[in-house]
Amino acid sequence: MNPFKCISYLTTFGNSDVPDGLTDEMYDEWMCGCDNCQDACPYNRRHDWNKGEVLKELEDIASVILPDNYDTLTDEFLIHNIIPKTANHLQVKDLAALRKNAARSAANGKETGRCGQKVGAPKGSERS
Ligand code: SF4
Repeated sequence: MNPFKCISYLTTFGNSDVPDGLTDEMYDEWMCGCDNCQDACPYNRRHDWNKGEVLKELEDIASVILPDNYDTLTDEFLIHNIIPKTANHLQVKDLAALRKNAARSAANGKETGRCGQKVGAPKGSERS
């Protein structure tokens, strides 16, 4: 696998770049991370994805943190509500990349953005 063409890498440590061979459309709804490979992993088929901690503070703002809204959300809001939930995959210096990821998700026609940790995905929008 080429990590420099991995959407998870590119939307986090990769500064939201789109390298040769990829297109914006390929990023689909992903705003921070991807982890589709976790769905394909045979070992994970035995895992119950309904188990785990619900991040209530994210659920409370789910209707606000939709991809279309990121250009109006303040830096302060994102620094306090989103960046800490990315498990150090995004830092304050990455706000521009986060907004670029959100704009791409919205341009791809996605009402909800997704993260490897489901940041920005309102309750019930998770894949089964
Ligand atoms: S499925 Fe996995 S390897 Fe492929 S882009 Fe997503 S995170 Fe990267």
